[in-house]
Parts: sequence; C-alpha cells; structure tokens
Amino acid sequence: MTIAPTLENVPRFDRTVLERDWEVILHGKPVSIASRYDVEDPSSGEVLASVPECSEADVDRAVRAAAAAQAAWGALPPRVRASKVRELAALIREHREELAMLDAWDGGFALPIMRKDVESGAEHLDFMADLALDLSGRTVPASENFHYTLSQPYGVVARIAPFNHPFFFASAKIAAPLIAGNAVVLKAPNQTPLSTLRLAELAGQVLPQDLVQVVSGSGHVAGSALVRHPLIRRIGFTGAPETGRAIQRDAAESGVKNVSLELGGKNAFIAFEDTDPESIANAAVQGMNFTITAGQSCGSTSRLLLHESLADAVLERVAELVNNIRVGHPLDPSSEMGPVISRAQYEKTMTAIDTGTREGANVIAGGGRPSNMGEEGYFVRPTVLAGVSPQSTIGQTEVFGPVLAAMTFRNDDEALSIANNVQYGLTAAIWTNDVGRAHRMARDVEAGFVWINGTSRHYLGLPFGGTKASGIGREASSEELLSYTEQKSVTVML
Ligand code: NAD
Repeated sequence: MTIAPTLENVPRFDRTVLERDWEVILHGKPVSIASRYDVEDPSSGEVLASVPECSEADVDRAVRAAAAAQAAWGALPPRVRASKVRELAALIREHREELAMLDAWDGGFALPIMRKDVESGAEHLDFMADLALDLSGRTVPASENFHYTLSQPYGVVARIAPFNHPFFFASAKIAAPLIAGNAVVLKAPNQTPLSTLRLAELAGQVLPQDLVQVVSGSGHVAGSALVRHPLIRRIGFTGAPETGRAIQRDAAESGVKNVSLELGGKNAFIAFEDTDPESIANAAVQGMNFTITAGQSCGSTSRLLLHESLADAVLERVAELVNNIRVGHPLDPSSEMGPVISRAQYEKTMTAIDTGTREGANVIAGGGRPSNMGEEGYFVRPTVLAGVSPQSTIGQTEVFGPVLAAMTFRNDDEALSIANNVQYGLTAAIWTNDVGRAHRMARDVEAGFVWINGTSRHYLGLPFGGTKASGIGREASSEELLSYTEQKSVTVML
C-alpha cells in the first residue's frame, strides 16, 4: 500500500462550507425544527453539523406544501417545466465546489469524485429536461371511435435516497418526477444530509416555492411518515433491500401505492479464459469502485469470477493495484479513497473480512486499518479475498464496503450458475473475446444492467435497475420519466 500523508502532516482542511445552520425550508424560509441530530465526520468520528430530525408532523407540512405547489406546476407545458429544471442544473454547476465539499465532509468521499458527482447530477436534470416531450400520449385504433391516452403526474411523489453519492442521487432523483409534472418530497440520507438540504435552498431560487421539499431525519420516523402519508401515491426508493421491503409493507398498509425500488447487489464480474489478465485486473479493480466511494456503490462488481486458467495471473496484478490505492482524508488531494461511512459500516466490513477468512478465503490485499490513518475515523484498507467459496457468506452477501471477493470457475455453465446463484440481480460484467458466448451470457445472466468487456460506467438513456432482490423499475431513462406519470385513456364517440 502506498502511504498517504498522516492526518497530522496534511494542512487542516477547509471547513467554510460547514460554518452555517442547517434547516429545512418551508414557504421559502428556514423552519426551526426543535428536534435535531448530529451528523458525523467519518474521517474523524467528530460531529460536523446538527440537522433537523423531522417528525411525522414536519413531514405532513412538507407534503401538504408540496401538494399546494404542484397544481400550477403540473399545468405548465412540459417544455416550460424543462426550462426551469435546466435553470436548476445551471445553478448547481455554479455551486459545484461547495456541494462537492459537503459530500466529501459528511460522506468521506474523495473530493475530485464528488465534483464529478455534482456534474452528473446536473447532467441528469438536463437529460430529463431533454425528454420532456416523451410525456406525449398516443392514439389507439381500438374501434371506429377516437381513442387517445394522456400521461399525467401523480401529484406529490416521495423519493428516498441512500448515503452514497449524496448530491448525485438527491439531484438526479428529483429530475424525472419534476419533468413529469409532480412536486417532490425528498428524504435526505441520515448520514449524508448536508448537500441535500442545500439542494432544497438552490431549488427554491429557481423553481416555484415549495415544489421541492427536503426532509431530514431517521428512516423509521421521517421516511416511514413520508411513505405512509395519504397524499403520497408514488414512492421511488434507493437503498438496502430490507429497507425496500419495509417500505413496501408501509405502503401496502397505508394505501394503494406505486413503489419502485433500486436496491443492493452482489454483482458478478466474469472473466473467461480468452481474455488478457492485465486488462481483467484493471477492469476488476475499477469495477469495484474502491476509489469512487470506498466500494460503497450499488453497482460495484464485488464478486470476481475468474476462469481457473487466469486466476493466478489476474489476482497477482489485482493485489498489486489494490495495495497501491492511497487511503487518506477525502479532502487531501493525494488521497484516492476515504473512509467508509460510519462505525456500523466499518464493523460490518471488518466482520465480513473475518468471516470470509474463517470460511476459507485468503486475504491477498488489504485486510485491516491503514497504518497511516491512526485510530480515528472509519478507514479500511481496500481488500481482496481470494479462494472464496460461492456459497460462503462473503460470496453471497453485499458488504457495501471496499471488499472484493474472488472465486474461480471451470466452464461457462459453472460461471453462469455461480453468477446467478445469489439473491441479487443488479449489474454484471462479462469479459470474453467470443462474441457468441458474450451475448449468451448477457441473455442468461440474472441482472438488470450488463457490460460486455466493460464495467462501472452508466449511460444516460440506458435503463438502470435490478431484478430479483435488487429492485423493481428502471431509472436514468424515459422509463423512469414515464413511471412518474399515470396513463389515462380517453374515448371520443364519433
Ligand atoms: P438504507 O436502506 O439504510 O437507507 C436508505 C434511505 O432509506 C435513508 O434515507 C434512510 O433514512 C431511509 N429509510 C430507512 N428506513 C426507512 C423506512 N422504514 N422507511 C422509509 N425510509 C427509510 O440504505 P443505505 O445504507 O443508505 O444505502 C446502502 C444500500 O443502498 C446498499 O444496499 C446499496 O446497494 C443500495 N443502493 C442501491 C442503489 C441502486 O441504484 N440500486 C444505489 C445506491 C445504493
């Protein structure tokens, strides 16, 4: 491992963006919410900020204010809505540094990556604005009369976001609902709420007052109150599978609601014998997103399935690359990977590594705390476990941390069987030079998003989402936009 400067050696990082009060906004003004909670700095464990802990009553006020704002917004022509959303994207770009700093502080994610995330959020808003005219209905030759359909907004929709990629998700997740003519109440992630609270302020500068509401607080109180609210009929959730199921239960108990879920994964990267070990090693390390979010990305290819003839050569190089990742403070320009988000995530990651070794795997890179970061903060060395049994705990469970689990296979059938034999189905990467095999595997692998000889990248317009325990619904595409509308069929008797 390359040693980055210790915390004592690097200059103190700029805290200016944190020196302010954090409130939710209602009717264009900050509302003082008595109940608060502390947001932690994952790099030190210290308190960074105090933010509102919204109650059921606070959520109710937010939903009702959003509902009042929605009627006029929903009545605007889509292209007019699109132009307002583009103004928000432009304003976000103007605040890129501030927003990226907030995510680096409360998320512990390396600053250069968070700058890209802010840009991606703005691009997502622009992209959905480009699709505004996809909200058209169609005519249906169902009889001698005239039949057509309308795509209409739900009203107020709920979006609930996870802690990773905080600003990217906050901004990207409001795009489709807004273009479709809805108001949005966005539940900020509890560990990383700062840039989402800031988004509410920016949205208020260019969008109609109250159209975008942000609530912060716990999932069990604010999140659940939002899901159960009688005016909420459409919920878009991104987070852990167990939370997704709790949301489905709350939704079913409180009404008839449309719920889409973007959940976790234990995604397979499959490398066949006809590939080059150096390219596989580079792509496998990239696919694990160690340097993007310390491995805390849903689409990370966290299971590396290697043909047995390639395994030694690939793993030797993977270990070298992973040991060279510079772990350090997210605001230190020489750092490539920050800490994981919380003590709970740190312990979960360390336990996953221990359990992996107890179940027979070998640590070939990383495996504990980095020696350069002292005892404070939730830093974990990027880790690779080899010789993982597909049925072991580390072979089956999402860690959502910087741990890559490598295993081998002997033939195509075995590769497919290992790849599919998990509860999840989010992404998969297939590496081979055999065109027929590539397409057969892409067809048969149980995943919603597949790369052939690629990894990691998402493409606006290409539907993203999971199958099995990884979710319901597709995003980042016209499918997402239309999912925030309801179809109405109209018949004109001729
Ligand atoms: P999480 O499920 O713990 O929390 C996500 C959000 O749900 C938070 O805002 C939380 O406060 C809220 N929440 C918790 N309980 C709730 C409840 N009962 N009702 C309503 N809201 C509730 O997830 P996390 O730890 O923030 O994120 C990690 C998980 O998210 C991983 O499993 C990861 O794979 C997944 N994820 C999936 C995608 C995707 O696009 N498929 C993207 C990012 C993250």
